[in-house]
Amino acid sequence: MAEANSSAETRERYHPQRIEGKWSARWQEQPELFRAEPFNSPRPKYYVLEMLPYPSGALHMGHVRNYSIGDALARYMWMKGYNVLHPMGWDAFGLPAENAAIKNNTPPKQWTLGNIAHMKAQMKRLGFAYDWSKEVTTCLPEYYRWNQWFFLKMYEHGLAYRKKSRVNWCPECATVLANEQVVDGCCWRHTETRVEQRELAQWFLRITNYAQELLDDLDRLPGWPEKVRTMQRNWIGRSVGTLVDFKLAGPAGPAGDKISVFTTRVDTIFGATSVQLAPEHPMVADLVANDDGLRAKVDELMAEQRRAKESGDVGEIEKHGVFTDRYAINPYNSEKVPIWVANYVLMDYGTGAIMSVPAHDERDYEFAKKYGLDTRVVIMPRYEGEPPAPGQDEPLLLPFTATNSLLINSGPYNELAYDQAVARMNEDAERGGFGKAAVTYRLKDWGISRQRYWGTPIPMLYCDRCGIVPVPEKDLPVVLPENVDITLTGGSPLAKVEEWVNVKCPACGGAARRETDTMDTFVDSSWYFYRYTDPSVTSGPLDPKAIAYWFEIDQYIGGVEHAILHLIYSRFWTKMMRDLGVVANSEPVERLFTQGMIIKDGAKMSKSLGNLVIPDDMVARYGADATRMYTLFATSPDRELDWQDAGLEGISRFLSRVYRFFMTEQDSPSSEQPADRRVLRKLHQTIRRVSEDFSGRWHFNTSIAALMELMNLVQEEHSAGDGLGKSDTLSAGALKAVRRNFVLLLHPFAPYLAHELWERIGETSNLLREAWPDYDPALAKEHEVEIVVQINGKTRDRLFVPAESSEEEVRQLALAAPKVQATLDGKKIVRAIVVPGKLVNIVLR
Ligand SMILES: [Zn+2]
Ligand SMILES: [Zn+2]
Repeated sequence: MAEANSSAETRERYHPQRIEGKWSARWQEQPELFRAEPFNSPRPKYYVLEMLPYPSGALHMGHVRNYSIGDALARYMWMKGYNVLHPMGWDAFGLPAENAAIKNNTPPKQWTLGNIAHMKAQMKRLGFAYDWSKEVTTCLPEYYRWNQWFFLKMYEHGLAYRKKSRVNWCPECATVLANEQVVDGCCWRHTETRVEQRELAQWFLRITNYAQELLDDLDRLPGWPEKVRTMQRNWIGRSVGTLVDFKLAGPAGPAGDKISVFTTRVDTIFGATSVQLAPEHPMVADLVANDDGLRAKVDELMAEQRRAKESGDVGEIEKHGVFTDRYAINPYNSEKVPIWVANYVLMDYGTGAIMSVPAHDERDYEFAKKYGLDTRVVIMPRYEGEPPAPGQDEPLLLPFTATNSLLINSGPYNELAYDQAVARMNEDAERGGFGKAAVTYRLKDWGISRQRYWGTPIPMLYCDRCGIVPVPEKDLPVVLPENVDITLTGGSPLAKVEEWVNVKCPACGGAARRETDTMDTFVDSSWYFYRYTDPSVTSGPLDPKAIAYWFEIDQYIGGVEHAILHLIYSRFWTKMMRDLGVVANSEPVERLFTQGMIIKDGAKMSKSLGNLVIPDDMVARYGADATRMYTLFATSPDRELDWQDAGLEGISRFLSRVYRFFMTEQDSPSSEQPADRRVLRKLHQTIRRVSEDFSGRWHFNTSIAALMELMNLVQEEHSAGDGLGKSDTLSAGALKAVRRNFVLLLHPFAPYLAHELWERIGETSNLLREAWPDYDPALAKEHEVEIVVQINGKTRDRLFVPAESSEEEVRQLALAAPKVQATLDGKKIVRAIVVPGKLVNIVLR
């Protein structure tokens, strides 16, 4: 007896390894299951994309969360009848491969491809439904040749150029860093290493040509999180103002006879009491040419600025300056103003020169007080309605910077309001030939040169006779040589590969040398998602017909840390490709979702803190389904997830309960039972909730909670098998409906178990293509009412609450609604009025 019992139990116990092993093997035999149909499919298309990983060696939990969100969505969209493209690939160039090469004496290619194989196996074990026929690996020549092709096209169109520039240099990486890769004055990878400034000839992409369009089109991306759009707006940093030329009084040098300043407040220019130059401004060299004492002082200012830049607090620099003994002429009033050099003026912002108006600018005021410069008031507050009686107005507190102002002490512009004055003064500058209205951007051109080995070779040659010569298109790809000695010092390792570097000039046949810098890896990730649509095309980078069908990407999912770099470069790349005639769309991504980070014990997971949770360990212990489902259940996907092992155990127990329920013999009457209605109502409410969570809100935590509630109720109501003769039970028909629909709803979250149960209940169709269930609104709504939630009379949300809820319960549910929480934002709730069965009006102040 005991033995028989235990074998019956074994049969009924949930064995994720056994179930997942079985289905994993089947899916590997049928990779076509997850393949997108061709672009002439009659189905509507849906392109769901997760950010491609860097093949570091192993997936981390953040990856699992990101891909579990995307995979749930992909499976749901398949069931909704869409032709789904759900690809995956590898951002495979980059520094860690070179570091690993040095550390382990393994060539970067071998290390990278080995990691890819391992991580791909991990993804398969996790059950992610990727179309591997679309795989893209950016370190292979069939991909990076098109980086080179785009580079040549950009060079041809003046969008790629070379110039000498001061660059951020990480001594640890021994390479140039983009401004965005400098964090608090340190390297983004080496957070303890101070970044230095060096002068190098670099290749740049002219992203600034697209600054205005990149800004404007943010308004056409309502499917992007507002915080991401705000970050991009700030990064582009548009400011509107005036360029004004101050003529140099006295002799001019090689740098010319005038200083251009950019100001957003030309209305205050009669209050300018000096002009200030950045230490690196070209004019400074002229001004100090015959004065060693002055040059020493300027050098000191330059050093101070560099140190401040390196420590990342140039905004906080203690302001110093030096008078050059020279003057410039204010073109509006012909006044001579002294020229200073100041350590807080930056060459790479605006024109590298400012006019200083101490009375009406915080920074200028502080500087003028320190050095005893004149302060002249030229604007005053503009009063709405009655001005104060003479002698009654308060003394003006300096600096006064408001734009609700009138001009005074400003010659012909006196008494003009701010905007009138700016318009008139811009016109006069243009007419007088000494300036014009202008717009500047904080966004700089994209420096893509890296002194690294493991990247795309830049396809350019240097010939003694011809100068810079592009590699002819027919000679692409310029293949990265293998067996290269990599060290972290002394510039690019490619420079040492003589047989690769030395080539014949295609123009004159003479001796030429290859460019030895490689491209920033952000180039690779700027367009990889286009290549997915047909990674085998060789006639060009892309198949335009496939692009026309699949683009824009319907849903892109990834970390918010990519809000600026990757997502601005990708938008730029799309616009550039459009202008080259390669694609027709202007934006790559229609909807963007940024998932939250995973933390444990109050900190971001990291090896050094010892709080890493290894996906392989969790899969071995609880199975892939439970691991994936936990990352979706712990909190809503946009929020930070605080990892709790107990939470994963809870999910594992739930799946086990589901499994046992399906495996238990169910004796059910064929006639309708009283419990049927209660259970079917709950079923339809659950279908509605899960479907709604998939339509943009993605609170999969509430979807999964709803599935748990449904299972609780079914087990409560259906006790037929307990042998106690309890009268509550479900009819065979209701039981069948519940089981079938439960599996359909479970599938996006726990695909292995769902497939197993589908087969066990006798279904033979492909679950992935089975139709998503519809709910019957009448049945679902029977015992729930819809409540409108208003804030200060404006509708903010709608909730379904149980019809029998008390007023207080309804009030609490309304206050807890996420949209309401988002609107509260520290404001005070004055009262919340409940109109039973209809609405809750929350009054905020
Ligand atoms: Zn570094
Ligand atoms: Zn030549």
